[in-house]
Amino acid sequence: MERLIPIKAKSDILPAYRNTPIETLLNYQNLNAPHAVYEKAELLIGMCMDNRKHLRLPENFAFIIRAGGGNLRYSEFKVSYAVAIGGVTTIALLAHTNCGMVNLMGRREQFIAGLVEKAGWDQEWAEAHFMHFAPMFEIGSEVDFVLSEAKRLRLRYPKILVAPLLYRVEDSQLYQLREGTL
Ligand SMILES: [Zn+2]
Repeated sequence: MERLIPIKAKSDILPAYRNTPIETLLNYQNLNAPHAVYEKAELLIGMCMDNRKHLRLPENFAFIIRAGGGNLRYSEFKVSYAVAIGGVTTIALLAHTNCGMVNLMGRREQFIAGLVEKAGWDQEWAEAHFMHFAPMFEIGSEVDFVLSEAKRLRLRYPKILVAPLLYRVEDSQLYQLREGTL
């Protein structure tokens, strides 16, 4: 956890994020900054579908794409839309602690049994479905994944600022992540 950089005061915000929508996001979530009024989105947030996360954000401030693990590999057209049409210049990628997309294989039997019992699926379909998709959605480790996903998006969208952050479900705070370049 030594890669986490908490934000308890404005001065904790990394220089690379100052005067950007990432600073604004951190001010809202961690420092309870009063909400400003926005006519258009300033930020795209990619985050997990998990129900335990609540962002304290004003209306219109951000586009949000939610997907398992905050994995945007299968949401690229939506990212492109937010950039090209929505005009956002910044992406905040939020990993979170205790993510269900870590160690999916460990939940294989539960997943298959759940689909059979709760959704009425055939056992074989459920097994095939899990085995087809689990490798695509497995993220391995929350922090390592969000750092690599940020690198990928920076290559794909070179003019866009991409910030990998960690949301701790334990305290609902966002944490900056130490990278080689910051
Ligand atoms: Zn998750």
